[in-house]
Amino acid sequence: MANIAFFGLGNMGASMAKNLVKANFVVTVYDLVGSQVQLLAEAGATPSSSIPEAVASADVVISMLPAGKHVDSLYFGANGVLDNIADNALFIDCSTIESKTAINIGEKLRSCGHRFIDAPVSGGVAGAAAGNLTFIVGGNKTDFDDAQVYLQAMGKNIFLAGNIGAGQVAKICNNMLLAVLMAGTSEALQMGIDNGLDPKVMSDIMLQSSGRNWTLELYNPCPDVMPNVPSSNQYQGGFLVDLMNKDLALAMSTAAENQSVVPLGKLAQSMFQMHGNAGNGKLDFSSIFKAYKHN
Ligand code: NAD
Repeated sequence: MANIAFFGLGNMGASMAKNLVKANFVVTVYDLVGSQVQLLAEAGATPSSSIPEAVASADVVISMLPAGKHVDSLYFGANGVLDNIADNALFIDCSTIESKTAINIGEKLRSCGHRFIDAPVSGGVAGAAAGNLTFIVGGNKTDFDDAQVYLQAMGKNIFLAGNIGAGQVAKICNNMLLAVLMAGTSEALQMGIDNGLDPKVMSDIMLQSSGRNWTLELYNPCPDVMPNVPSSNQYQGGFLVDLMNKDLALAMSTAAENQSVVPLGKLAQSMFQMHGNAGNGKLDFSSIFKAYKHN
């Protein structure tokens, strides 16, 4: 049985590590925040108070950190993972980071005798808690196959998008489209309301018509059209505007690298940036609906 060292026990990582414990893996956990480590110890993980301690007997490393610079410094910083782990470890980074950083990390790890896949996720905090995340992986097929057993304990749909870095590209393409769909759906719904339509009736019509999309099916942005979604709970919970802005910035930098033409993505980014700057950063991203409302 593999020994897993898990780093980053925040909103996503804590639940993901718990699901690995539930699947009977031996999981040693580390986070800069001691109380998060304690939380996982109570759930059956082995706590550690330093990176060397966390990787002492690890052959698999899983990280779920805020951004690329955190992953890079965790792996390669002084007395970091690389300085302390045995050869031929499998590194699985589930954070959302720049694809070129993922490629760079993969090359550095390979040159030191380790294996790496980027495995960003879709499904958010609820998916992490339920263990039904979608993993979008970049890496070689052998490493992907070897990682399946761990990813299956945390997720439901697991895709190989291509080589290292491809997981990140696929993820931000998806999230750029999601931002466009959420803004577009909000725009259409509010135009209906402005012209006297009931948003529930409007949503039912579009759901059976050619405007049908994921936001209308599962995540309606207009309050009280759908139960149990953030829009019907003052836009609390869900996927934060701040995180959508992070992903849109990654999407725009990826687009710039290969001169991809992304006018709708750019427009969506401007809208979500203005919305975040107006104090909505900690609301769910479906709150973009408010940007269309007349005061
Ligand atoms: P978070 O800020 O809640 O958690 C990050 C954790 O990493 C924190 O507990 C922090 O203390 C820890 N950390 C930072 N540097 C560390 C280090 N060097 N060593 C150990 N621990 C360290 O973030 P989150 O919401 O869990 O998101 C994590 C990643 O998942 C991000 O890349 C994010 O973009 C992505 N993501 C988040 C969501 C979401 O809905 N929250 C959805 C999909 C993807």
